Amino acid sequence: MIPNVRTCVRCIMDETARDIEFDEEGVCNYCAGFLHKQTKHIAPTEEERQRRLNGLVEMVKRSGRGSATIASSAFREESTAAGR
Ligand SMILES: [Zn+2]
Repeated sequence: MIPNVRTCVRCIMDETARDIEFDEEGVCNYCAGFLHKQTKHIAPTEEERQRRLNGLVEMVKRSGRGSATIASSAFREESTAAGR
């Protein structure tokens, strides 16, 4: 590692990288951009995660091809395999 070169606290990027900036916590702008995108996909809290999960479950149920169908077909395959 090159001495006296500021490095991001989250990744391996250092200040020699092009267009790099660090925030007050020492996180580079590349990481900041990534974290910002990530929060759109990953729920920030457990409550929010559950809410999104329930939404998905409801969507699958409404589509008429719910997890029950998937579960029963998996069971059928398993019992067929066991019967051999
Ligand atoms: Zn970084």
